[in-house]
Amino acid sequence: MTAKILDGKVIRDAILEETEKKAREFTLKTGVTPGLVVILVGEDPASQAYVNSKKKTCLKMGWYSKLIEMPATSKLEEVAAQIDRLNADPKVHGILLQLPLPKGLDEQALLERISPNKDVDGFHPMNFGRLALGLPSFIPCTPKGVIEILRHSGIETRGKRVVVAGRSNIVGKPLALLLARKGAGADATVTIVHSRTVDMKDRCREADILIAAMGQAEMITPEYVRPGAAVIDVGINRVDDPSLEKGYRLCGDVHYDSVKEVASAITPVPGGVGPMTIAMLMTNTLEAAIRQAGV
Ligand code: NAD
Repeated sequence: MTAKILDGKVIRDAILEETEKKAREFTLKTGVTPGLVVILVGEDPASQAYVNSKKKTCLKMGWYSKLIEMPATSKLEEVAAQIDRLNADPKVHGILLQLPLPKGLDEQALLERISPNKDVDGFHPMNFGRLALGLPSFIPCTPKGVIEILRHSGIETRGKRVVVAGRSNIVGKPLALLLARKGAGADATVTIVHSRTVDMKDRCREADILIAAMGQAEMITPEYVRPGAAVIDVGINRVDDPSLEKGYRLCGDVHYDSVKEVASAITPVPGGVGPMTIAMLMTNTLEAAIRQAGV
């Protein structure tokens, strides 16, 4: 069996087109243009690449967008002051604090400083708590992107056994909560496996849908995959490759070439979950603008 390739770029383009259309109608009705501001502290090259593509996407949609770059030596109060300013700025509907922050800055304190109404990443305890309670909230972009890939690809989750590998607050944990919720695109029987799981291979092999989010390059090999399972690869890892000019290649947490021979469907890296994350940021920003406009 060779797996169906789930192309995140095609799904992203369809979602962005629809979001742009909805935003145009919203702007016509209210005179409001959605606005997103990204704060980048420090000079992490991967973060710089992510924030640039977020800004580019926003501008392509004709939305207000700004990147605030702050030195790695910034103090907590300085970043907090920027957040306070953006919380009060009516042009700004979404605020995104790019993670990871330089060592020494209290990530949780700064995430909690962002107004829950502008928290388009869905990391504020208010939004995370509402997600856990099954109430409307901003849903973290990468988990939301995974749910959308499954939905757009016609992969049923209701009653299915889903294994989520990884329990981070930004991917694994919210994703497991979303999949276990009641309703369409959820209703799954969810198992979380992590670095302390003793029988990881056996648990993963039980999955109808296996979602890898461990940050471990190409760890998921065919022994982890039940033949016919759908495999979603969230991982993005840089692996040294001196044969390439840039000196590295990007790969996921799944050994793509071998797993695609046993899975029924698989997301590539790059070009799978990654593009979806940005699309979901745009849908969350529009949602924030609509809520703040009170329509
Ligand atoms: P993290 O390091 O915060 O969490 C990793 C999780 O995996 C932990 O819960 C840990 O228990 C588990 N884990 C680590 N090693 C393991 C092992 N050997 N076996 C089983 N479980 C193990 O990472 P994160 O922020 O959740 O990101 C995970 C991956 O997803 C990374 O590669 C990251 O780059 C990628 N990511 C991609 C996107 C995207 O847009 N596609 C967004 C966020 C993160």
